Amino acid sequence: MARDSRYDILFEPVRIGPLTARNRFYQVPHCSGMGYRYPNAEADLRGMKAEGGWAVVSTQEAEIHPTSDLTPANEARLWDDGDIGALALVAERVHAHGSLAAIQLVHNGLHVANRYSRMIPLAPSHAVGDSHDPVQARAMDKSDIADMRRWYRNAAIRAKRAGFDIVYIYSGHDMSVLQHFLSKRHNHRTDEYGGSFENRLRLFREILEDTREAIGDTCALAVRLAVDELLGPAGITSEGEGRDIISALAELPDLWDVNLSDWSNDSQTSRFSEEGFQEPYIRFVKSVTTKPVVGVGRYTSPDSMVRVIRQGIMDFVGAARPSIADPFLPKKIEEGRIDDIRECIGCNICTSGDNLGVPMRCTQNPAIGEEWRKGWHPEKIAAAETADGALVIGGGPAGLEAARALAQRGVDVTLADAGHEWGGRVSRESRLPGLAAWARVRDWRIGQLNTATNAELYLHSRLNADDVLQYGIPHVALATGSHWRCDGVGRTHRTPLEFLGEGPLVSPDALLSLGADAVSTNGPVVIFDDDCYYMGSVLAELLARAGRQVVFVTPQAQVASWSVHTLEQGRIQARLIELDVRIIPSASLAGRTRDTLQIACVYSGRTRSIECATLVPVTARLPDEALWLELKARANECADAGIRSVTRLGDCLAPGLIAAATYSGHDYARGYGAAPATDDVPFLRGDIAALWPSSGSEILSR
Ligand code: ADP
Ligand code: SF4
Repeated sequence: MARDSRYDILFEPVRIGPLTARNRFYQVPHCSGMGYRYPNAEADLRGMKAEGGWAVVSTQEAEIHPTSDLTPANEARLWDDGDIGALALVAERVHAHGSLAAIQLVHNGLHVANRYSRMIPLAPSHAVGDSHDPVQARAMDKSDIADMRRWYRNAAIRAKRAGFDIVYIYSGHDMSVLQHFLSKRHNHRTDEYGGSFENRLRLFREILEDTREAIGDTCALAVRLAVDELLGPAGITSEGEGRDIISALAELPDLWDVNLSDWSNDSQTSRFSEEGFQEPYIRFVKSVTTKPVVGVGRYTSPDSMVRVIRQGIMDFVGAARPSIADPFLPKKIEEGRIDDIRECIGCNICTSGDNLGVPMRCTQNPAIGEEWRKGWHPEKIAAAETADGALVIGGGPAGLEAARALAQRGVDVTLADAGHEWGGRVSRESRLPGLAAWARVRDWRIGQLNTATNAELYLHSRLNADDVLQYGIPHVALATGSHWRCDGVGRTHRTPLEFLGEGPLVSPDALLSLGADAVSTNGPVVIFDDDCYYMGSVLAELLARAGRQVVFVTPQAQVASWSVHTLEQGRIQARLIELDVRIIPSASLAGRTRDTLQIACVYSGRTRSIECATLVPVTARLPDEALWLELKARANECADAGIRSVTRLGDCLAPGLIAAATYSGHDYARGYGAAPATDDVPFLRGDIAALWPSSGSEILSR
């Protein structure tokens, strides 16, 4: 298909200093959880983006010195020459597909605790770090500043030797020593590096000049700058010093990459912001510099991309998450395949990987992070070796992805769902406050299945074991989902709480189907959230918005504690407070009468009673496995009917994230027709040096 001429502007080449980017698609630096510990995985991840058409592909932040040690996070490193090889691999893979490779150099200042290097963190002034470790950063003196300049310079030279085209100096996310020097909050110095704006800017300016000199005139120099910290007068603002910084250094770099700080402001989820949410803060930038500008804002719509270029807000459409959900987004626009774009849903499961120091995963793109270790390509799957058909039961994220990927492999697929709409939990959850974009998980898969000639889709089709036997389709995948349990069992209570039923009890599933009407208006509704991710808080929001008096009880110290990893925790807690939800942290359940709930402090065991007209326990789910159990019990009949395999997928196997469900469906389709799993580790681990047996004798002789 030909590209729609409306999008031609997105494919114009753009100059960046001495270089030319082939189009306006720019993968900005983003962490992947596959930094220095998994160099092959990182290289293939970035190479895939280049193959997908991004004109510029950046690494994640690269620590320039062991005083900038983010362990256990797994970022890039350029501490010494020994780190060049791993990064050279990244540049090579990016170049192989005709893209420019960018690297973001950073010294993390007071943001690090240096847990591995054990060196003392550095900052403009004495400061407690923001890592929550009992560690303080020390104020840098003049010789430290000279060291810092030299470290940046050395790292820039190494970056060039590794083959990078664009070298970034990073002052963003409150994670860079340069931002710390710029910030009145962090910089209390009285010498020429503190005090006035010009003084606080000094180190940044010097390092930009040093870097320019170090990389020469064949590489481009880029700046990543937080133009607003969303802290009002206490921080950098786009009307104040954010603007002043760019005005003062306007023509010094070859490119400005501008965004919000901290990371939770920059990578806001769809629950809290729309596509393009950064525009009000960054739209001034092009008026104060002639250099190209890149910005982000979860852009997945080509029309929005064209708009931001035409309106002169940016020259490049920057993306981290949209490029994770769909590394081939540019190619698809170029080839006129707009409907094939797998749009990011803005859930931030990807950020949880970095926050937990593990390779990222993505709700929409199961192949992310598996490019090297499993050889998964996000767009291609080899044709299945068998012509046997497949029956997929359940059209939630697991079943939809299994059916879609099987159809892509040329397998004749029958997909049946009991419901009146596709999507399973995704459809139900997308009707909750702020989660509408999650329906994209369903929409993309249904869109793909609707164009497949080898997929038959049936709604209103609850299948039982007799139906399955009657079909006799050789391979059966059960993606029948799960339901919320109502017995209180979860993380905190490991055995059923008999007293829960002493008063009205409403399951999260009832709220998902009926909305707030499932809960009476008489008296307070208590949500007991032992799940600790999003569900408890969105149900609280649903009920509070419907005028219910809501009490939120959790055994954790914070609301939705796991959502720190998706960068949402602060916003979730703020929202519940704004909605007048009463929050009771650190409490478990201890007893119940008709109108009251007894709760116990998780530390002291001390109990107290709170009013409770309705209780909603959000604790854990149970697989909907009745069909599985029946088919297992009738294994002989299955064999006689020609059924050769029955496999559980997604929540039916073990309830989990939507990302786990799409992954499960995808994994099933990839392994379809292959030999059964062995005891071997099902992915490459070559990134870990093989110590055994070559150095075994050495180990034994110690
Ligand atoms: P997952 O997250 O694993 O994909 P979901 O709960 O989202 O699970 O989806 C499960 C889907 O399976 C639901 O849409 C449900 O209607 C469907 N389903 C459950 N049991 C049957 C069955 N026996 N026959 C057909 N569809 C079923
Ligand atoms: Fe987007 Fe969620 Fe994938 Fe991250 S995990 S790229 S937010 S869909």
